[in-house]
Amino acid sequence: RKALEIIEQALREGRSKLLEHEALAVAELYGVPVAGYGLARNEDEAVEAAERIGYPVVLKIVSPDIVHKSDVGGVIVGLEKPEDVKKAYNEIIENVKRHAPNARIVGVLVQKMAPKGAVEVIVGGLRDPVFGPTIMFGLGGIFVEVFRDVSFRVAPFTERDAEEMINEIKASKILKGYRNLPPRDIKALIKVIMAAQKLMVENPEIRELDLNPVLSYPDSAITVDARIIVG
Ligand code: ADP
Ligand code: MG
Repeated sequence: RKALEIIEQALREGRSKLLEHEALAVAELYGVPVAGYGLARNEDEAVEAAERIGYPVVLKIVSPDIVHKSDVGGVIVGLEKPEDVKKAYNEIIENVKRHAPNARIVGVLVQKMAPKGAVEVIVGGLRDPVFGPTIMFGLGGIFVEVFRDVSFRVAPFTERDAEEMINEIKASKILKGYRNLPPRDIKALIKVIMAAQKLMVENPEIRELDLNPVLSYPDSAITVDARIIVG
């Protein structure tokens, strides 16, 4: 298993949080659609990666010690050209050195910027001490943090169960089309939930999974951030 190789390397190195590119790679191996990305260790590599991926891109800090990248100025979006990328690379390194002086810096993730108009959703995985692998679904931002508007299913569950998970959150109306918001690709979200389930079931070393956000569109869904805790 390729995923196991990534996980075991992290464990050997004493890291409980997979690096951003490792977590995205593991998610991708299970069929989660992820935005194109590359790891850069200096500004020239960042530009190379951006040219390969195609503009616009987003830059993000890659560190085993940082969980919330934007809290430390570790995410810069909307970069349109090489000069933007170089500037953002150095800005991110400076921000992180200032806000998290003890964090080890591996490099910067260069990622394809997803289009506007997304509804951000969260797909989570946890290991309940009694029930085992459990998957969570909710809308991003205040819906989860303030209203705790989330649904759970214990594995094993079917696509129909996954669809119910989506339908049973209070904010599901937003995904079905509301006011000026068009309806979302629910099948694509079901696929992400099923992939997350498979990932949790087949990898007992994974303690926690957080696809946050998965960007939901009328015709697709794409993950731009994955956090995986192992151990
Ligand atoms: P963290 O959660 O560690 O702060 P994220 O990678 O989730 O970092 O980025 C923070 C926010 O930036 C996301 O919730 C999303 O709104 C936006 N974002 C991140 N990556 C992209 C991307 N590739 N395309 C569009 N928006 C993005
Ligand atoms: Mg995030």
